[in-house]
Amino acid sequence: MFSCPNCQSKDIGKIGINQYYCWNCFIELSLAKGLIHTHQVEEDGTLSSLDDLFDENERRYSS
Ligand SMILES: [Zn+2]
Repeated sequence: MFSCPNCQSKDIGKIGINQYYCWNCFIELSLAKGLIHTHQVEEDGTLSSLDDLFDENERRYSS
């Protein structure tokens, strides 16, 4: 398991194939090619990427 790149919480729930949700800071996480991609769910339901906020090193995970 990995920890949230945003808040370092491990309180992460699975919501789909390679898709996770952080219950601590309420962002969506998806895993692809060894990197964690982060998305914020906007009030209108759209997703905006938060990847710019994190260094690539912070978004790596090992399975
Ligand atoms: Zn989090």
